[in-house]
Amino acid sequence: MSGYRWTCQACQTGNEPNFDQCQFCGCPANAGSEDIEKHINPEGFKKKKAKEQYSNSLFVYFFIPFFAAIYAVNGRHESLVILLGMAVVVTINNIKLLTHIWNDRWARNSLIVIASLFLASILVRIFIIPNNSPLVWWSALFYFLLAPSSFYYFFYSRNGKRVFNEYYSKANK
Ligand SMILES: [Zn+2]
Repeated sequence: MSGYRWTCQACQTGNEPNFDQCQFCGCPANAGSEDIEKHINPEGFKKKKAKEQYSNSLFVYFFIPFFAAIYAVNGRHESLVILLGMAVVVTINNIKLLTHIWNDRWARNSLIVIASLFLASILVRIFIIPNNSPLVWWSALFYFLLAPSSFYYFFYSRNGKRVFNEYYSKANK
């Protein structure tokens, strides 16, 4: 109970002090920004959460060959086995999502190209650029640019949005 009349942050209805949930829309009096968003636009909120989960599940695949190469070259075979084991578990848990990606030519090719770019960049760094070369900084800069730009391309380009929307409508049928 808030002890005073309060206005719902989601629907702007005035509520009596003795209610701790909005009597019109059910939004809690002390709602955080996520609660408010959920009450204003439940469908949009659900889709936004699904998009986050979708991005997180797929983003790891950008880096699997990259880290596999680092562990293989450094002789950290335990880490390599753990990484590949985790990749298998994640893949099994997300098999529907990955099948969807694999069946879409744009998504499949983009994911392969992005993962290959990360892999190629680390191989160049390890085998071609000497440790004391100023090129080390350029290769570091390259990852920092590649990560956000490939994320944007894969999830927010026209095709990236299309692939997600197709997956989302299939999953919510
Ligand atoms: Zn309300």
